[in-house]
Amino acid sequence: MIVVVSPFFMKYFVAGHASAITLFPFVVLNHERHRENVVLMNHERIHIEQQKEMLVVGFYILYLLEYIVRLLAYKNHFAAYRQISFEQEAYDYEEDLYYLQKRGRWAWIRRSYFKL
Ligand SMILES: [Zn+2]
Repeated sequence: MIVVVSPFFMKYFVAGHASAITLFPFVVLNHERHRENVVLMNHERIHIEQQKEMLVVGFYILYLLEYIVRLLAYKNHFAAYRQISFEQEAYDYEEDLYYLQKRGRWAWIRRSYFKL
């Protein structure tokens, strides 16, 4: 995991809506102070593992498809985003700093992937 701080990238790529984004093998932060945020960094580390097991491109395809389906269902960006299986796993375990040591492969599938 390579951590990069780029307020410019974050402002224009995610329109300032996030503190960090994981683009394997990079984690881009919008501010240097986030390097010390262990919960945020653990969240992004979980996304790194998800991206590796989905061969990176599979992660982005499924992430986008799931977001679109959920956006159509909920008609709300934040609700759709939070219900994405990858995000559910990351949010559920971001505070468990030992989660990745015990996480099984494809753990995000056990989330609500087949639920709306
Ligand atoms: Zn996330």
